[in-house]
Amino acid sequence: MFLHIDIDSFFASAERSVDPTLKHIPMAVGSRSNLEIFNKKRTNIRLMNENSGAFVTPVFYSDKKKSFESYFVDTIEGHRKIRGIITTASYEARKYGVKTAMPIAQALQLCPHMVVVPSHYTLYHKLSHQIHVFVQSKIPKVEQYSIDEFFGDLSGWIEEDDVYDFAKSLQNELLEKFDIPVSIGISHSKWIAKLATESAKPLGVFEVKDIDSYIEDIPIKAFPGIGKGFQERLGKYYISTLGELKRHKSLLYTWKKPGIQLYHRATGTDNEGIQSRGERKSIGISRTFDAIEQSSEIKRRIMIMARHIVYMVMAIEVNPTTYYLKINYEYGVKVKKTETVHRLFSETLFKKILFDMYDEIVHPEKSAVKISLSVSNFTQQQIKTLSLLDIEEDMNHKDLSKEIQKLRDRFGLDIIKTGSEL
Ligand SMILES: [Mg+2]
Repeated sequence: MFLHIDIDSFFASAERSVDPTLKHIPMAVGSRSNLEIFNKKRTNIRLMNENSGAFVTPVFYSDKKKSFESYFVDTIEGHRKIRGIITTASYEARKYGVKTAMPIAQALQLCPHMVVVPSHYTLYHKLSHQIHVFVQSKIPKVEQYSIDEFFGDLSGWIEEDDVYDFAKSLQNELLEKFDIPVSIGISHSKWIAKLATESAKPLGVFEVKDIDSYIEDIPIKAFPGIGKGFQERLGKYYISTLGELKRHKSLLYTWKKPGIQLYHRATGTDNEGIQSRGERKSIGISRTFDAIEQSSEIKRRIMIMARHIVYMVMAIEVNPTTYYLKINYEYGVKVKKTETVHRLFSETLFKKILFDMYDEIVHPEKSAVKISLSVSNFTQQQIKTLSLLDIEEDMNHKDLSKEIQKLRDRFGLDIIKTGSEL
């Protein structure tokens, strides 16, 4: 049997776990633009990264104690303007129609007494990690699917008849230990378990015993993985529920691999196991911005983004050996480079190599609109596989990086910058 555990309105619940006055009221977490990392003034940025490498880029925000006024309100020529968007709304706020990605100003029109809290990604990251560790201590086979979702495979671990009670007690333990509400779906199929979690929300446990009757009337758009494209395609054949989808096996099979995979996932016949992909395979960050011509500014931004990656690398204690840099220029031109470096990772080394990579691929006449950076191929400190020639120098840099990390943990990510960022 599979469990799918999903934290209820995660960021909102996280805020409530540290400030109980936010409980039982309409409240939401909001964020502003993610370009603030490039600001020249100190913003006390910290970092958050989702654990499951596959689909997420890290998000960085200022994590200073900030008030609604100081964080969300701009006053321009005497006019007070509320900026930012809703990241997560509590169930009490959702009743008023408040939704994720809605401008905060609009949400406050729907629900004027709602409390909007600036996001604290460090808190969410920390909680996500602690919950992951806790769930792993209860279930041997766990896959972290997103920052607030986990799959667990209970086969050979918990008797089928006991799975519901097991899920209930896990839910209670998470509530007691972390003050975090979760919902849990249970099924023989992984993706049906995920679907079942939606029926369990909030703070419920829902077990699907008979998959066919459960999916019969579920609208296709409720299924994870049926986006706009599939909805349109299925709509042409008047397929609007998973039950109808199940009766169109041969049609979906004509849509090749994506259709076949969808058919089996949506009908609970996929036989997919959970992916114990370990912690993480890569750390990446990308930023899109208005076109920039000056090479110096592009480099400065690369170095700032590099610092954020360094922070994350040090935080999870891995040693990446492959570095990747991509620059998108105007009119669809892109350049990229991958470099594999069997050395001990440090900020000095990473930035130096990025400088060289940039010089090799730069288009001096073009304006950049996006930068992407990532590191991968973690060696988990297996120094054996690293180059011995540079080890002494690298060790020094590594020690320095560790000290810098401590300072950044305490005072925020931009307490220390290197000259190339200024
Ligand atoms: Mg959730």
